[in-house]
Amino acid sequence: MVTGDAAYIKKINRSLIIREIVKEGLISRADLSKATNLTRATISAQVADLLEEGLIIETHLEHFTVGRKPIMLSLNGNAGYALGIDLDYGEISFTISDLLGCPISTINVKINTTDYKDILMLLNEQIKKFEADFNESRYGIVGIVIAIHGLVSKEENIHYVPRLKWHEINLKSDLEKEFDIPIQLENNANLSSFAERVFVHHETDNLLCATLYSGIGLGMMMNNEFFRGHDGYAGEIGHMIVVPGGKQCNCGNKGCWEKYASESIIFEYLSEKRQIENLTYEQIQGWLNEGDEEVREVLEQFIFYLSIGLNNMINMYNPDVIVLDSKLLRIYPDSLNKIRDNLNSSISHYRELRISSFGRKSTILGACALAIKQFLDVPMLNLPLQLKIEQDESVVI
Ligand SMILES: [Zn+2]
Repeated sequence: MVTGDAAYIKKINRSLIIREIVKEGLISRADLSKATNLTRATISAQVADLLEEGLIIETHLEHFTVGRKPIMLSLNGNAGYALGIDLDYGEISFTISDLLGCPISTINVKINTTDYKDILMLLNEQIKKFEADFNESRYGIVGIVIAIHGLVSKEENIHYVPRLKWHEINLKSDLEKEFDIPIQLENNANLSSFAERVFVHHETDNLLCATLYSGIGLGMMMNNEFFRGHDGYAGEIGHMIVVPGGKQCNCGNKGCWEKYASESIIFEYLSEKRQIENLTYEQIQGWLNEGDEEVREVLEQFIFYLSIGLNNMINMYNPDVIVLDSKLLRIYPDSLNKIRDNLNSSISHYRELRISSFGRKSTILGACALAIKQFLDVPMLNLPLQLKIEQDESVVI
């Protein structure tokens, strides 16, 4: 029997080995030993356990003509599945991914209620269906992570969701009464930053991701951990005041950043100005293509105020990588260079500024990835980016 320190060391070694196998995709036992600094005997024993558990598989490389064909190890992506849920206003999305983070099924459910009991019932029903659909695999659904568009405490209680008007709700414990699957609640901006780190920016352990859709959310990965603040509510950067005495915000203050640099504000302004309901990105793109001067001005202002907030954010956190999640920045020509040109303080330091390539999928992919990380029990994951979604079903309730 392995006890005490020996059990702890075995667990650490296992985590190191799994992390390396996932990172490399395919790796031999010899290279695993080199990369982890563990002896061949340790590797051999741990690999035998992981094979027995069905978590990894062996592949014989065929193209070696001289000598023995090396046996490569890789994670068994189909040993189990992660369920990510994006609990947004008006729509709940469910994505199942394999253990390599590749999405294999997505269902979007439109909802016209904000009632907690109705939404809890819907979540229960959908999770039961997924649980039944995937129970053939060795580990079934290995974990569920739910993205909350609001404040989640360190204890994973929902403190406040502005658009759903939910206060102090314990969704995690309500679901845990029904399911014997690990369930975790996490703020949506944190999950976006996690997706950026896990799928794209493997080289950094310090990343900020600002989502600019309805309001501004900030997800912070510092030393590969979420930065949460004392209660878990850090990252409410959208309510940083950038215009003293400016526009009235719902938070009670005036001149908050998100009243100037979020997409919803731009859409609101242009919809009202041009008397168009349900304005789309395509319409804005069309106006830009036609050289519409007013729309260009509005987007230049958006970039101006965005840069002011980013300047403050950079001075506060000295981040390595900053990712901006905004479709308007993707369609407006040269937006990133314009922002970079505005960030010219000799004091500000960051290495890389990028626009997210995921768009709104980042939250749910981050949710799947976090469930995988918890299941594999590793300190961090580097997963390949595979955005193929085989089945995309929309359901209206
Ligand atoms: Zn505010």
